[in-house]
Amino acid sequence: KNRNPGEIEFHQAVHEVTESLLNFIEDNPKYKNAKILERMSEPERIIIFRVPWVDDKGEIQVNRGYRVEMNSAIGPYKGGLRFHPTVNLSILKFLAFEQVFKNSLTTLPMGGGKGGSDFDPKQKTDGEVMRFCQSFMTELSKHIGPNTDVPAGDIGVGGREIGFLFGQYKRLRNEFTGVLTGKGREWGGSLIRPEATGYGTVYFADEMLRTRNDSFKGKIVTVSGSGNVAQFTTEKVNELGGKVVTLSDSSGFIHDPDGIDAEKLKFVMRLKNIKRGRIEEYAKKFGAEYYANERPWKIKCDVALPCATQNEINKQEAELLIKNGCICVSEGANMPSTPDAVDVYLKNKILYGPGKAANAGGVSVSGLEMSQNSLRMSWTREEVDGHLKRIMQDIHTTCVKYGKTKDGFINYMDGANIGGFVKVAEAMLAQGLV
Ligand code: NDP
Repeated sequence: KNRNPGEIEFHQAVHEVTESLLNFIEDNPKYKNAKILERMSEPERIIIFRVPWVDDKGEIQVNRGYRVEMNSAIGPYKGGLRFHPTVNLSILKFLAFEQVFKNSLTTLPMGGGKGGSDFDPKQKTDGEVMRFCQSFMTELSKHIGPNTDVPAGDIGVGGREIGFLFGQYKRLRNEFTGVLTGKGREWGGSLIRPEATGYGTVYFADEMLRTRNDSFKGKIVTVSGSGNVAQFTTEKVNELGGKVVTLSDSSGFIHDPDGIDAEKLKFVMRLKNIKRGRIEEYAKKFGAEYYANERPWKIKCDVALPCATQNEINKQEAELLIKNGCICVSEGANMPSTPDAVDVYLKNKILYGPGKAANAGGVSVSGLEMSQNSLRMSWTREEVDGHLKRIMQDIHTTCVKYGKTKDGFINYMDGANIGGFVKVAEAMLAQGLV
């Protein structure tokens, strides 16, 4: 804590992993002696830079850019870029740290990183977003590359931003390479990448339900967020026979007891991705309830799928979920549950899939996008979806392998942390003190 003062989210992420790993490392002194966890908690490199740009009024704006290159033991750094006013070093270090374990779990050769800026794309014109992205990439391009560090999207960074970033990289380097993932279909993107995180979160939840001979059929599902992950989570739940009754954004949430069906979801996608409007408009359009400045966890559900942001379910909300009969939480977002909320899930032995396992589908298909770029090939929708499903099943198997307790309960949190750790730790041991 003295070394990283004030980095609350980073402490939280490292603390959670350390708790899972303590006994495992005691039982395997080779990891302890080589100080693997201590080394994994220190980023290999952090780049912080000034991002000056000019807004539509001709005024100069200054933001801060970051890239945290956390661990490259098993492959090039890989992880998203987040553009959001709350971005700071603590948040990006927590995300980069989690990413190392997540990428390891995918079984693909990817190290971990994360980056972004405190730039807020909301209420900015396309021209402003483009000028910001070009300035951001002018510096970032010196530090990334298809074999070094391959960023992707995250909160506030979708297809539009990846396009502007890729265009500037290509212009600066005069090369067309797979330096970013989440690209458009016409210029190197993979089918199913936009869907992957949401679909994967639902596939993972489905695997968890299967261990109790259950499924999504007829389940009432609460989802938070209304961005990329929330949208495709909703689509897949509908496909598997569940009913999504909530969506949210940073201003509040909507409750639609009739369910957010394909037609209504289309409205949400247009509202959020094209009009860049607020979820409140859904309530007006379909006569649903709108709760300003609240989160959806008080609504009765069987399955909860948090898909917005970190620390969006606290202890009281977790207790409320359980009281209302929730049997499964699968995290589309990164670290959406506070540590004491996780304690509530584990104490009550519900099915709990932590983000680093449950939302690994996005980075998995990013890995598949890198493979397709290297091969200069494009796989079909079915091929990519098949790979995604298999990877989510493999991650589930790994969690069971390392997380099954004596009484048969599966602690997915421990399973994901230990399963993700082993591969990276072995690579670090083999590569010596670097
Ligand atoms: P988007 O920007 O597409 O959507 C984010 C959604 O969350 C929006 O509805 C946004 O509301 C809401 N939100 C953001 N910040 C807050 C906040 N502080 N409080 C309340 N609501 C908030 O991002 P994604 O869907 O891509 O990402 C969502 C989560 O999933 C993040 O935790 C991300 O790290 C994680 N994730 C994403 C992956 C991906 O492939 N995209 C991969 C793995 C994890 P508003 O519109 O008001 O901003």
